[in-house]
Amino acid sequence: MSDPGSSPIRGLEAILPSRETIEGAGVHLRRAFGATEVPRLDPFLLLDDFRSQNPAEFVAGFPWHPHRGIETVTYMIDGFVEHEDSIGNKGVIRSGDVQWMTAGNGIIHQEMPKHLNDGRMGGFQLWVNLPADHKMMDPRYQEVQAAHIPQVNPSKDVAVHVIAGQVSGVRGPVRDIVVEPEYLDVRIQPHGVFEHPLTPGHRAFAYVLAGRGRFDDASGEVVDSENLVLFRDGGRVRVEAMDRPLRFLLVSGKPLHEPVAWWGPIVMNNRRELEAAVEEFQNGTFVKHPRPHA
Ligand code: MN
Repeated sequence: MSDPGSSPIRGLEAILPSRETIEGAGVHLRRAFGATEVPRLDPFLLLDDFRSQNPAEFVAGFPWHPHRGIETVTYMIDGFVEHEDSIGNKGVIRSGDVQWMTAGNGIIHQEMPKHLNDGRMGGFQLWVNLPADHKMMDPRYQEVQAAHIPQVNPSKDVAVHVIAGQVSGVRGPVRDIVVEPEYLDVRIQPHGVFEHPLTPGHRAFAYVLAGRGRFDDASGEVVDSENLVLFRDGGRVRVEAMDRPLRFLLVSGKPLHEPVAWWGPIVMNNRRELEAAVEEFQNGTFVKHPRPHA
């Protein structure tokens, strides 16, 4: 890898405020980007921030629904999610855990958020697109518990949970994903700075969870929490915390440059493939993998 100190720092292309949305069976959440932004964040399709302190806003959850053609990535930081799917998987995604689900040719699942005694629940769901030649791959999970996600301190002011990608020579546990993603949860102490190399040509964004920060060295713009920073191309990013601790997700991946046809939880390349998926869902032939406990 080239010396990150000599490559250009990525500038800000845009700052996108997240907006309130209702999803699933009535879950109140904030959407940083979604169908209306396509293809701007290619290969990423959607990012939802479903942090809440009010169980009435999330207990209805996301009951049984299909996915095809994409990956859904759930990262929890409060409470937990109970999930269950058409393959027979059943489990719990707890605070600090990640579930990287490759839906591929089709999975039907439900995701039900739950709170602990304090009533709080929170996490993020990212949708990652699959290229045409992988949309119908067999479904696959990478489920990683918090204890297996390394925390790295690149400097005394910075702590990074490495979910995918690499920081200070430490590689995250999620691997072998088509778009070669990096997914970091970064915390910076007040006035601290984090510099990090990114693969030139890969799309990159930061979503601010808490605090305020500067995400480039040119504009001087200060970005608040619940906003998304879309970076221009370049070899590295530089982020500086303001007067409070700053926490953000830093995500990057290789763009696909393919047509996107999107219907609800199914994202394919064209309308014909969408129609086939909906027809298969209606006539019961959507799931391609065997049902172990039919
Ligand atoms: Mn889902």
